[in-house]
Amino acid sequence: MLDFPYDTAPAPGEVFTIRPGLLWVRLSLPFRLDHVNIYLIEDGDGWIIVDTGIDDKAGRAQWQALFDGALKGYRFNGLFVTHHHPDHIGLAGWLCDKLDIPLLTSQTAFLSAMNFYNSPELLAATAYSRFYASHGMTPEVAALVSTQGQEYMRMLSKPPFTYRRLRDGDVLTLGGRAFHVLSGDGHCSEQLMLHLPEENLLLAADQVIEKISPNVSVMAFEPGGDPLGGFLHSLDRLRSTLPDDVLVLAGHRMPFYGLHDRCTALIAHHHERCDIIRAALATGPKSAAELVPVMFPRDLTPHEMSFAFTEVLAHTNYLVGTGDCRWLDRADGTRAITRA
Ligand SMILES: [Zn+2]
Repeated sequence: MLDFPYDTAPAPGEVFTIRPGLLWVRLSLPFRLDHVNIYLIEDGDGWIIVDTGIDDKAGRAQWQALFDGALKGYRFNGLFVTHHHPDHIGLAGWLCDKLDIPLLTSQTAFLSAMNFYNSPELLAATAYSRFYASHGMTPEVAALVSTQGQEYMRMLSKPPFTYRRLRDGDVLTLGGRAFHVLSGDGHCSEQLMLHLPEENLLLAADQVIEKISPNVSVMAFEPGGDPLGGFLHSLDRLRSTLPDDVLVLAGHRMPFYGLHDRCTALIAHHHERCDIIRAALATGPKSAAELVPVMFPRDLTPHEMSFAFTEVLAHTNYLVGTGDCRWLDRADGTRAITRA
């Protein structure tokens, strides 16, 4: 049982009190994952906002409705952003400017937001389409991945020119409470979480989410990256260093208890996915594109296909990294993965 009196999430415009000095707001998103959780932490004479939602008309309108409604009269001292995905950092520039507050985030989040804001067209670079093609992706899907990436990354207001860097191990004192900054990997690099040992709670961002498995994808700009290795390592660290009965407040879905079980389930899920790939390779080498229907045996829309493809690559790169598998160059210029 959760020790606050809600069994639903706050409706648009509503503010829930999770603990004294810790509020929960939810913004809706125009995606299949149709919302993002925003938290507010009391900081002396004002509040720190945690995450922002995407920058679109509806996103700004939802904030304005809160400022005119449930948050009317509130003072704000800063914006803490957990990571650089647009549903979390999208309105950072707009909020910091509007409220005249500083941005606190990781270096990765700040620099990534700057980069995506200034050069979204880079996502369609030839180097990237070549990378997709080398793993057997059709030109149609490759084009879609690039253009969709651009649209998504455009849901971002102009980032502030400056920020305050937070990193793993820092202690952020807000209103007399000491929040320990933790950095996670896998869903994206340097995703920041806030752990408050005194009150046994964790703002977990998208590192661990109730019921759903956070997306773990190889990005075209880091083709040899091992986000899955990083993700598993981060989950293992959370499980071994934080108590199981910590209240987890994630970037999506409901707050929950059972951190250790959730980490264990996510780790097991990805090991099962690796087993599926290993089994498929028993009949011979496969390209990432050939592994998509093995790991996702159902019809995929092009949009789902792009997520599936980059998620398959997270597993293949991990298996190569552990020495279980290796890459094989095929005569047609594509690459296949095979048992080592
Ligand atoms: Zn998210």
